[in-house]
Amino acid sequence: MVMPPPRQIVNVRKHLSADGLYALVRAAFAKIPDLRREGSPISLVDTLMSAFATFALKDPSLLAFEERRNDQNLRDLFHIQRLPCDTQMREILDPVDPEQLRPVFGSVFRELQRGQALKPLVFYQGSYLLLLDGTGYFSSQQIHCDSCLKKVHAETGQVTYQHQMLAAALAHPDHKEVIPLPPEPICQQDGTTKNDCERNAAKRLLRKIRQEHPQLRLIVVEDGLASNAPHIRELIDLHMHFILGAKPGDHEFLFDQLIAAFEDDRVTTITWKVGDGQAEISFVNQVPLNESNSDLLVNFLHYVEYGPDGEPRKVFTWVTDLHITPGNARLLVRGGRARWKIENETFNTLKNQGYHYEHNYGHGKQHLSVVFSMLMMLAFLVDQTQQLCCPLFRAVWKKLGSKRALWDNLRSHFRHFVFQSMKHLYEVMLFGLAKNLPAPRLDSS
Ligand SMILES: [Zn+2]
Repeated sequence: MVMPPPRQIVNVRKHLSADGLYALVRAAFAKIPDLRREGSPISLVDTLMSAFATFALKDPSLLAFEERRNDQNLRDLFHIQRLPCDTQMREILDPVDPEQLRPVFGSVFRELQRGQALKPLVFYQGSYLLLLDGTGYFSSQQIHCDSCLKKVHAETGQVTYQHQMLAAALAHPDHKEVIPLPPEPICQQDGTTKNDCERNAAKRLLRKIRQEHPQLRLIVVEDGLASNAPHIRELIDLHMHFILGAKPGDHEFLFDQLIAAFEDDRVTTITWKVGDGQAEISFVNQVPLNESNSDLLVNFLHYVEYGPDGEPRKVFTWVTDLHITPGNARLLVRGGRARWKIENETFNTLKNQGYHYEHNYGHGKQHLSVVFSMLMMLAFLVDQTQQLCCPLFRAVWKKLGSKRALWDNLRSHFRHFVFQSMKHLYEVMLFGLAKNLPAPRLDSS
């Protein structure tokens, strides 16, 4: 049943709406070289787009996607000409180098820049906060591939195979949306038998980001593992500002410097009321990071929140290259504390709001597991872009009350009716027009 489009009430920015973004993603997929022998009945671009559609629709498994094979909407709305079956999808995507997917994220990012959509996320002096955090999404004692990390149990010798990724996202403390950049897989690297780690992944990822965005002004926000001299020197080389967690146990020398600065009256302290308690910032600029790197000077930022009983409730410390003043200290604390956003707004959303982040859609022998996780992050980027830029998407989300309800509703509309565009679909959802229709299509209910 083809539904007539309703009257247009909500304006959409064409390029930053679902229809524009799906077309953009498809065009970027089409540039990825298909290294298979000629004559394959299903194209790589159709296969990539099908996997992307699985994550855009939040299908819980490839079987659920498989049931959509005759769905006209998949062909029309996701521009897929020939749909692969689930086995074909896994076979075709397994050899795809995950690096090839990075430019697809870049296409969406450039569109956001072109549409001036990132401006609200500027945090300080024209720079964006770039949050980094790693997480695992796969662990098994049986299933494994060439890219798996291998953890061997010291006593039993039992091998556990794992996949982790280092995610990176632009975020702002005042905005719910985060803009993920392509993540860096933490996985077995070619030509080495040693396991990869988050620190190495961060090094690779930040270099790639600088290469892809030479002019982008960034303040990198990471946890305490990052506040070491080699990493800080690397950030300085890449022309990236930083706010990095610093723990007393890792930075005895630095904390001693702070105590000495307190005694010499070189520390500036600001206090203000927070709820029933009090917040306090102490800072000192230009102190050496540690004894063996006395030439590497950082600015030290210490934040404590006290309860009404005068006991500290929260304590955070950071090192930064940004010069701290009484005027910007509170803002920089907010920047450092924004790091939780990557856990909350990225990983928790992927894990708990319908994305099935930890579901194994297929592991493959080479890259499949990594390719799927990158495509899921891409679908998340496209969703976050809609959330940031598309009033129609936001109106439907508001009406339905939650992301889960939004995805459930989207899938059921998608399954039962034929739409001319995603805009059409969202408008039908927003105005409740499906209820006025005759019985749903019979071929796939
Ligand atoms: Zn694996």
